[in-house]
Amino acid sequence: MASRLSFPDAALPSSTEEIRLRIRAFLEAEIAAGTYVPSCDTWLSGHDADFSRKLGANGFLGLTWPKQYGGHERSALDRFVVVEELLAHGAPIAAHWITDRQSGPGILKHGNDALKEELIPQMAAGEIYFSIGMSEPDSGSDLASIRSTATKVDGGWLLNGTKVWTSQAHNNHYFIVLVRTQPIAESGGKHNGMSQFVMDLRSSGVEVRPIRLLSGHHHFNEVVMTDVFVPDHMMLGVEGNGWNQVVGELAFERSGPERYLSTYPLLAALIDAVGPEPSAEAAAEIGLLVARLAGLRRLCVSVAISLDAGRLPVTEAALVKDLGTRLEGEIPEVARRLVAPGRIERFDQLVADSVLSAPGFTLRGGTNEILRGIVARELGVR
Ligand SMILES: Cc1cc2nc3c(=O)[nH]c(=O)nc-3n(C[C@H](O)[C@H](O)[C@H](O)COP(=O)(O)OP(=O)(O)OC[C@H]3O[C@@H](n4cnc5c(N)ncnc54)[C@H](O)[C@@H]3O)c2cc1C
Repeated sequence: MASRLSFPDAALPSSTEEIRLRIRAFLEAEIAAGTYVPSCDTWLSGHDADFSRKLGANGFLGLTWPKQYGGHERSALDRFVVVEELLAHGAPIAAHWITDRQSGPGILKHGNDALKEELIPQMAAGEIYFSIGMSEPDSGSDLASIRSTATKVDGGWLLNGTKVWTSQAHNNHYFIVLVRTQPIAESGGKHNGMSQFVMDLRSSGVEVRPIRLLSGHHHFNEVVMTDVFVPDHMMLGVEGNGWNQVVGELAFERSGPERYLSTYPLLAALIDAVGPEPSAEAAAEIGLLVARLAGLRRLCVSVAISLDAGRLPVTEAALVKDLGTRLEGEIPEVARRLVAPGRIERFDQLVADSVLSAPGFTLRGGTNEILRGIVARELGVR
């Protein structure tokens, strides 16, 4: 079978420079004012509602969304530049990250007018935050095996089941939850009969239970739903079309620069730490990391251009995420080898944070084994 992998040669247009300079100036001023200290993996762990609201007020959220709903009608490439700078500056962006990346686009694409009018302007302002309700205790890679259900009742649906690894559900307002609206036995296959709902995490019948990390931090949750009533208009898209909608969402979830920049603040600190005249070993190791980063960036820009053109580069996104998450996991390993602990306190902190988050890089958003399977199928070797 001929491969349909497509990475059009792509460069960011010069029109993106204006917004790059603007977001850079904003972030440098915030760092200088002491609003935050740049850290690693902040897109998932750095939840700071004030900071997200400030980004919203300055026009950096909902960049591609219609002005009618508080968006800015700019290109996906302008958004690429903004998120690239936010990540490179290690800003605390977890509150709005999922909302801006996939929940907003999902609601704009599949939501009804009431849902868009109610939620999108608040999302663009950085005032409400969304989580992802996909994984379940026995369903991760094999997402189509989910068992949570929604049953039709008068005026809405009753949701039951358990979601797990739900990042920031304890801080966020909503999640978009994937559930079965038809049993597999009746749906004609396990990929049929699923639907998505926008669910208020403060609804009656929702219990958000913390799952603490090794470090003691609270980032993950288990979300138990017991007869949670969700009104009809909160169904996202078409009943039974949940699988197709989720696959579309994953192209956004897997393709962004957060899949290779999670530990970029550490790489930048490493370059500072070895100084202008590094050893030959340090120069070679860092040079290799930077070269890989540059290559990944080209691929990622190419995927962003495809998304901008309305294509759904699912396989290309899978490839970028596999390569990118391996790179971001190797950065702390190289950093540990090249700079002895105890020399630079801030460097040690960046290394420690990265080492603790790194095991999640190749799991979250789909494991690397699964991603390679997707790529292999597309190449016709599986
Ligand atoms: C930091 C982090 C944040 C997350 N946030 C969220 C969130 O907000 N919302 C959410 O819904 N989920 C979230 N997840 C869950 C994530 O999507 C799942 O962990 C992931 O999909 C893998 O599922 P699993 O953990 O059940 O592992 P499993 O699917 O049980 O996989 C276990 C191992 O088996 C391998 N494996 C499984 N099937 C195959 C196969 N067919 N071929 C080859 N190898 C296979 C996998 O690659 C993996 O190594 C998060 C995970 C992490 C680490």
